[in-house]
Amino acid sequence: MKTNVRVAVIGGGVVGASVLYHLTKLGWKDVLLLERAELTSGSTWHAAGGMHTVNGDPNVARLQQYTIKLYEEIERISGQSCGMHVTGGLLLAGSRERMDWLKMTQARGRYLGMELELLTAQEISKIYPLMDPKHFLGGILDPIEGHIDPSGVTLAYAKSAQLAGAEIVRQTRVTDMQQRSDGSWDLSTTQGKVHAEQVVNAGGLWARELGRMVGLELPVLAMEHQYLITEDLPEFRGQPELLHAIDFEGEIYLRQERGGVLLGTYERAAVPWSPKVTPWDFGQDLLPNDLERIAPSLEVAFQHFPRLGEVGVRRVVNGPFTFAPDGNPLIGPIAGLRNYWVACGVMAGFSQGGGVGLSLANWMVEGDPGADIWAMDVARYGDWATRSYTNAKVRENYSRRFRIRFPNEELEAARPLRTSPIYDRLQAENAVFGEYCGLEHALWFAPKGSEPREEVTFHRSNAHTHVAAECRAVRESVGLIETTNYGKFEVTGKDAVSWLSRVMANKVPAVGRLALAPMLNDRGRLIGDFTLCRVAEERILVVGTYAAEGYYLRWFAASEPGNEVSIRPCAMEYAGISIAGPNSRALLQQLVDEDLSNEAFPFMSFRSMDVGLIPALVGRVSFTGDLGYEIWVTSDYQRELYDLLMTTGRAFDLRLFGGRALNAMRLEKSFGTWAREFRPIYGPYEAGLGRFIDLNKGEFIGRTAAAAEKQRGGERKLIALSVQAGDADAIGDEPIYHDNSVVGWVTSGGYGHSVGQSLALGYVGIKHADNTNFAVEIIGERRPAVRLTQPPFDPAGARMRS
Ligand SMILES: Cc1cc2nc3c(=O)[nH]c(=O)nc-3n(C[C@H](O)[C@H](O)[C@H](O)COP(=O)(O)OP(=O)(O)OC[C@H]3O[C@@H](n4cnc5c(N)ncnc54)[C@H](O)[C@@H]3O)c2cc1C
Repeated sequence: MKTNVRVAVIGGGVVGASVLYHLTKLGWKDVLLLERAELTSGSTWHAAGGMHTVNGDPNVARLQQYTIKLYEEIERISGQSCGMHVTGGLLLAGSRERMDWLKMTQARGRYLGMELELLTAQEISKIYPLMDPKHFLGGILDPIEGHIDPSGVTLAYAKSAQLAGAEIVRQTRVTDMQQRSDGSWDLSTTQGKVHAEQVVNAGGLWARELGRMVGLELPVLAMEHQYLITEDLPEFRGQPELLHAIDFEGEIYLRQERGGVLLGTYERAAVPWSPKVTPWDFGQDLLPNDLERIAPSLEVAFQHFPRLGEVGVRRVVNGPFTFAPDGNPLIGPIAGLRNYWVACGVMAGFSQGGGVGLSLANWMVEGDPGADIWAMDVARYGDWATRSYTNAKVRENYSRRFRIRFPNEELEAARPLRTSPIYDRLQAENAVFGEYCGLEHALWFAPKGSEPREEVTFHRSNAHTHVAAECRAVRESVGLIETTNYGKFEVTGKDAVSWLSRVMANKVPAVGRLALAPMLNDRGRLIGDFTLCRVAEERILVVGTYAAEGYYLRWFAASEPGNEVSIRPCAMEYAGISIAGPNSRALLQQLVDEDLSNEAFPFMSFRSMDVGLIPALVGRVSFTGDLGYEIWVTSDYQRELYDLLMTTGRAFDLRLFGGRALNAMRLEKSFGTWAREFRPIYGPYEAGLGRFIDLNKGEFIGRTAAAAEKQRGGERKLIALSVQAGDADAIGDEPIYHDNSVVGWVTSGGYGHSVGQSLALGYVGIKHADNTNFAVEIIGERRPAVRLTQPPFDPAGARMRS
């Protein structure tokens, strides 16, 4: 065994093997994989081996496509069979909602290059005789689904990596890790010491334990999962292999296994395995069967696929595998822990393992994952994702694996966890809450006396008319929204301004001013968008997306700010309240001594001032696009601030509004938002943020690439559309058509109540950006859409500026 390597990958499951292979593919040969037992000894060996391209997140779907296409490559290089059975796969719908979901999935597939065919139940029964069509409305056929041999795939990755120079050492457990002052790692193993410049935690079932060795509690939990294999069905003999199938209503998946059927289920009575510590002596073991637990699913299976009730069960497998709270992998570097990478929580190793390996290897070798992997980035979880939170969320996620997650649906597990000081005030006003980073925030307000609950649907919900009233209140007089759920960083010190100038693409504003500032990576792609609030010469409050706090902190640290600047995350220290609407100035003026006139406190001003008795930071800006103010106070003052504004606001018919109304109003102004319009796959000029990129202010990260984008023009452009929708608006990820061809995708959509139009924002190929007529496919119907040449509400921006 080598004792000094560039990278030590810990874990020889499908994920570790894929990372190893991709590192060698990118030219890093001095790499070592350490495996506690034999390759595949965690959850990999007993997997059912199913592979799918469909995923709710288009970026993850792309990586799943990549994974499946990779198998031919590693078979060719290694000579090791992956046991590929590309049977094609069916997603079966037994309800109207599921049929709608399938239509939306099919539509998304159009710009992902997927050929998904929508079929009726009768059509399906001809190619899938096992099912009784009376239980189904239809389904989707995906020609590149199927199953593989889990061990074959893992060995093919491993052999391909070995042929390129990697070393694999089996029967060697890593027992401890210590970091040297130069950031490299000393690993203790059962076979002696290894020194590695970098380590990758691909420990699968033991990823938590490998995290704990360096003081990290990773939000992963293993769940028990059962599948059974039936006796042979004689009618399969001499026939082409059965298609893979998922029956969502039955919450089961099926495929052929030799002459029988393999049937697995994500049962609602989900059971975690080893919730606190994974035993090191767990080998290629299985867990005791518990068919009782999956009996409800089996009953449905026997109705939907009657032949299965007539054959015996040959074998039952119950094995554990790991999940993160949202079911997506956890990959990437850890902020504050140099040279330590994770690739764990991969619940669909045979659909996602290749994409995970590629992204992580890209990140390690090139400094960037090379794709938009936000949905899988380990940085999306903060300290709030405790072990108990993870336990509750993973159980919820597992038991809902085959259930629809509606776009307006808020899940209930682990709530409420975090609340702001005015939570009970908002609750008393009948707020319907959503959860974001574990924090409760108001989505909209139900009428007093009614149950504060939103019906989940793909169409307009019972919130629609109430959100309309909230928007009207803002546009006609004044509304109040809580804004605590933003990320905030206090940047102070002698080098605060010079450091911000280097990491942000816009100029740091003068004292007393605000500036919108995109953040770019070296490739000139958007990795953040912030409001910079200059409180004093050496003190700037940086406000951005809370969910990306860990992601930003990691980037800030990598930019080497030096000793003369302090970057302090303070999201929950500063609570926020924003008021917006034509009467917001008159309302606030009653509470402050400062002159708030447009001359004295114009648009984009920012100042410390007392609001009543309360010391506050006040900025003149509003995401509603109306006259408005964002008020930040330390959390201990928020209740008093709220009470004061509510009482004083009575004279102006002040009304509370929530996140749904805010979203509608920012769409009326064609304002983009992080994670929807602004993501690392887009450049700032493509995203319409060019006016916030100051190429003349001196050097900053991403400047060269941004200048090139400006000169060359981007590949695509963000456009705004007015859509002739029915009773469902675009929500995001729908295809955009021009002349019957798919030319782009929607990033967000909704109803603009103040303008009486269904609106959407989305990207189209640059050559289509000046066209007028488009269509957006909403739940299977192509809806005509017209490109808006200016924001539908207050196009000149007079209201926010006057
Ligand atoms: C019953 C069942 C059915 C499944 N069906 C499917 C399916 O159809 N399709 C699909 O895509 N996925 C399926 N899965 C999930 C799939 O198995 C996982 O996604 C995949 O195995 C995860 O691989 P991994 O490499 O992350 O983890 P693991 O397979 O757990 O690998 C981790 C490896 O790290 C090693 N290790 C840990 N700690 C150390 C240490 N300290 N030192 C050295 N080595 C260490 C372990 O020995 C192990 O070999 C199924 C899982 C189960 C249980």
